[in-house]
Amino acid sequence: MLHGRQVRIAIAAGLDENTFGTDATQIVEAITDADQGEGVVVLMDLGSAVLSAELALELLDEPHRDGVLLCPAPLVEGLVVAAVAAAGGADRHEVAAEALAALAGKAAQLPTAAPEEHPARDTAKSGDLSGVFTVSNAHGLHARPAARLVQEVRRLDAEVRLRNRTTGTPWVPAGSLSKVATLGALHGHEVEIEVSGNQAREALSHILALAARNFDETDEAPAEVAPAILSREPRAASPGVGIGPARSTRFGPIEVPDETADDPATEWRRLGKALAAVRRNVRQLRVRTARELSEDEAAIFDAHLLLLDDAELLDQARERINGGLAAAPAWHAAVGRLHDELAALTDPYLQARAADVRAVGDQVLRSLLGITGPAAQGAAGVLVAGDLTPAEAAELQPDQVVAVLMAFSSPNAHNAILLRAKGIPTVVGAGQAVLNIEDGELVAVDGGRGEYVVNPPAEVREAYAARAAELAERSTLALKHAAAPAHTRDGAEVLVAANIGAVSDARVAAEMGADLAGLVRTEFLFMGRAAAPDIDEQEAVYREIAEALGGRRITLRTLDIGGDKPLDFLPSPGEANPFLGVRGIRLSLNHPQLLTDQLVAIVRVAHDTPVSVMFPMVSNLDELLAARRLLDDAIKQVGRGQPDELQVGIMIEVPGAALKAATFALHVDFFSIGTNDLTQYAMAADRNNDAVAEVGDPFDPGVLQLIEATCRGAGDQALVAVCGEIASDERAAALLVGLGVRELSVTPRAIPGTKQTVRSLDSQHATTLAKLALHADSAATAREIVTPLTTVDHRA
Ligand code: PEP
Ligand code: MG
Repeated sequence: MLHGRQVRIAIAAGLDENTFGTDATQIVEAITDADQGEGVVVLMDLGSAVLSAELALELLDEPHRDGVLLCPAPLVEGLVVAAVAAAGGADRHEVAAEALAALAGKAAQLPTAAPEEHPARDTAKSGDLSGVFTVSNAHGLHARPAARLVQEVRRLDAEVRLRNRTTGTPWVPAGSLSKVATLGALHGHEVEIEVSGNQAREALSHILALAARNFDETDEAPAEVAPAILSREPRAASPGVGIGPARSTRFGPIEVPDETADDPATEWRRLGKALAAVRRNVRQLRVRTARELSEDEAAIFDAHLLLLDDAELLDQARERINGGLAAAPAWHAAVGRLHDELAALTDPYLQARAADVRAVGDQVLRSLLGITGPAAQGAAGVLVAGDLTPAEAAELQPDQVVAVLMAFSSPNAHNAILLRAKGIPTVVGAGQAVLNIEDGELVAVDGGRGEYVVNPPAEVREAYAARAAELAERSTLALKHAAAPAHTRDGAEVLVAANIGAVSDARVAAEMGADLAGLVRTEFLFMGRAAAPDIDEQEAVYREIAEALGGRRITLRTLDIGGDKPLDFLPSPGEANPFLGVRGIRLSLNHPQLLTDQLVAIVRVAHDTPVSVMFPMVSNLDELLAARRLLDDAIKQVGRGQPDELQVGIMIEVPGAALKAATFALHVDFFSIGTNDLTQYAMAADRNNDAVAEVGDPFDPGVLQLIEATCRGAGDQALVAVCGEIASDERAAALLVGLGVRELSVTPRAIPGTKQTVRSLDSQHATTLAKLALHADSAATAREIVTPLTTVDHRA
């Protein structure tokens, strides 16, 4: 339909691929994208779309904001007419006016829908329609049913007001979760509804139907918090024992400075940005909860999201900002008021909702005040969290955090890997109930057994303390022999190397007697920053690692980005399946300059110290050859010829690559099997999803056969290492050595124990057992087959 000039139409709809909704930050991006200098007309549908569009306007920078018109025109008809008008040269005011009149043609054609038969919303003085429902939910209209009600109301073009007829409360708007909560509507209470507006009739019948369905809540009463042994098949993620008071990531005390500010617009924008950031986090947690637990448990986050959009709460904050307060104290005060209102209600269940308000409020405060992670929260204790990002896990210090207990995550997730590296005992996948543990309650965690106890009685405390002492004794013995090389009883040398994710790890690795660094995860240098480190910075860090290891070989893995490891300066293309998308070497080859710079830094270091370069996630020979060509270019660019001790290898993480090992072996010096990824791809089990952690077991004979295929394909051409987490599992050492693996690369603190395990093996016997395990009927049987052999007498 368009003739004349190009009109740019940008869409900001849907919270993600599958979720309805609008996101203010997406709207900002769409506006910025559409703006060609003459302004933008924004069309939106109902309810929170309007709120999000208003918030987006607040978030926009000055030059863009001035040219934006939020237009209440009908979305579909308005867009068609607006586009035609804009293409014909109309300015934004004319475009908006045209869009507003877009229904005229259709209205004339369909006289039954004439506007006079449907009084406009703002002409309604009081409720056109009314009704009453009785609350049948066991805990009344608490957060989840209330959130369901508010969601329903916001979807429709109607004004809905509610009042608790039983207790005689004032009327409150049904579109505000905070206000609905103040009705204090308990089981058996009668709630009156008044509805006006274009969709009044639909709204009333939807609400009554929803109430009749108990607001889609299942019959089960929400579990009371009953401190005892809580268990939702928690899993061992990092060995060791820790006992201490719970420190949750949600309720840490936050110091809010009592600041004033001169420019309310700036403060309001700061608050808007913080709200948008928290909204993103809560949504991610919601998606995870629905996927890993259930839709029912995930629904609690809907209440959190609605609070972030709550008009009453935002008005309260805005009022204070306009009165001269800075964003943080204004938000703090608004949240505090709502919290106190809820806490004053008589019903204990509704009172407990005050905690939701505090949790959401605190997240926004942390974002406003730049408090980045749980590490910042003071006194030592057991950190209880839903999940931790790799960046948050990286911040934790063992002297502050004696153990970690996570509701989600799995042993192969990157956060668990980082926590193992730090020697922080960790249990993962413990279920959402752990989020109810109060701050300060005593928690005992055994990260080796995957157990935890809340408020342990004296005998349990003693048992945990005894286990801690036993572990300490074993590790003292292993440390004594850590510097010596590890040979099996019949003389086969097995290198025990370190996996390194920070310069500090290299120092620990040296102390722990690492024979080399088998895997340096160089992404730590690139993540969480606005631009890539330049060649000089990279060179300096790689040199520091080599020096910390006293000149022992360092295996530098080139950037392994994608999947669950994003880069701020290289936004991911929003793939539906990022673990199967452009990650590892695929991403680096798409950004050859990034890879070349890294290779130049590596080659410079390789002239002075033994270096191996390792490419991640290689699937086919073309990728390896392309990467090798870039390496040759880097060598030329450095201009000092081929470094004598430079070795080249690839990670084996893709099952297809394992089966093609003989082909790759002609072009590399070594393979390093990344069993974390190899397992997730071989077993089709996301390494970060604890719901499938049992399927994604690296002891599965299917995975073992891929390791065997790699060793067979490598023959005498290439050394085979394993750098996935299985390498530090005492029971796996026999299997891996038996299959032909000659290097185990493990988290630095596991080096002494791994060396002791190798010393307890006989390689011939290990080969026999490995053959049996290859054809075992399950991962459990494979484990059983090797367990007797690797029972190490650490006191020997
Ligand atoms: C692996 O996949 O096993 C591996 C060592 O790489 P990362 O854990 O860094 O993905
Ligand atoms: Mg990997």
